[in-house]
Amino acid sequence: MPWKGEKDPYKIWLSEIILQQTRVEQGLKYYEKFISAFPDVHQLANAHEQSIYKHWEGLGYYSRCKNLIVTARNVSENFNGKFPGTYDEIKKLKGIGPYTAAAIASFAFNENRAVVDGNVFRVLARIFGIGDRIDSTEGKKTFSALAGKLLDAKNPALYNQAIMDFGAIVCKPVPMCKQCPFKQKCEAFLNDKIFSLPVKGKRVLIKKRWFNYVLLEYKQKFAVRQRHEKDIWHNLFEFLLLESNKEFGKKEILKEVNKKNWAGANGYEIEYVSPVFSQQLSHQLIKGRFTKLKLYQKPELSSDIFWIRKNELKNYAFPMFINQHLRKMNV
Ligand code: SF4
Repeated sequence: MPWKGEKDPYKIWLSEIILQQTRVEQGLKYYEKFISAFPDVHQLANAHEQSIYKHWEGLGYYSRCKNLIVTARNVSENFNGKFPGTYDEIKKLKGIGPYTAAAIASFAFNENRAVVDGNVFRVLARIFGIGDRIDSTEGKKTFSALAGKLLDAKNPALYNQAIMDFGAIVCKPVPMCKQCPFKQKCEAFLNDKIFSLPVKGKRVLIKKRWFNYVLLEYKQKFAVRQRHEKDIWHNLFEFLLLESNKEFGKKEILKEVNKKNWAGANGYEIEYVSPVFSQQLSHQLIKGRFTKLKLYQKPELSSDIFWIRKNELKNYAFPMFINQHLRKMNV
């Protein structure tokens, strides 16, 4: 991976933010795209916000992108483009938690800090037979304290990389115990607890939401708005949304369109009402239909809605839920 052995704190930070909640194979593409478009923190800080969101499109968890912009601007303006050099200072930057701060401090500045990521949790829980929940405050404290004690103070960066790699390559979710040098000492192996460690909390409840999007088209232009609410997909763009607590068919959707007077007085032509699309997020399941209406007259809409040409839709960052529909319908 290009970030292995990397010493530049900007690149380490970028890779760590991209890889949070993202598979390495998927994250790699985005990392390369970002490094080539924004080779240093000043270029990221000075880029147009919309262009950064466009580069992030499809990665999900858009609050990461929002924090990325805030931190890039902060480092560029207030630190002259140089990341602060200690764990405590790095942790004060927006969107950087203990894990990312430890990774930057250790890999870029060789600070004596243990990095505790998912791989490290798994290795420590199994070898030492720790049954504390890894997502509880107490559990995190226990694992951090142990990781700190085990850290090789002479080579913290090398040690951190080694234990993370060991978790990724040998002590994987389905581990390679036969080849493992720790098998004579590993509590989980000796006590048949490999698959019950580490212990995670209860599964999160998934909230179901129905998003019915209305694509209003007038003279080859579409009505869109930017999402500013404290909600999923913050800062991304969308068509006109009808959120409902149950499935809406054509009849309910058109009733709402008429009630909101979205189509103006002269009526419209219904191009299609799509089948149900869905997207699974970490805590929410989004389902809904897309209804495309061709208008005969430009309606009066609220001031946050604006019109963009069909061939310009590609310049705006939409949620994956909308993009999958645009691609399928070739809009
Ligand atoms: S023996 Fe198995 S479970 Fe224990 S550390 Fe090695 S790979 Fe992991």
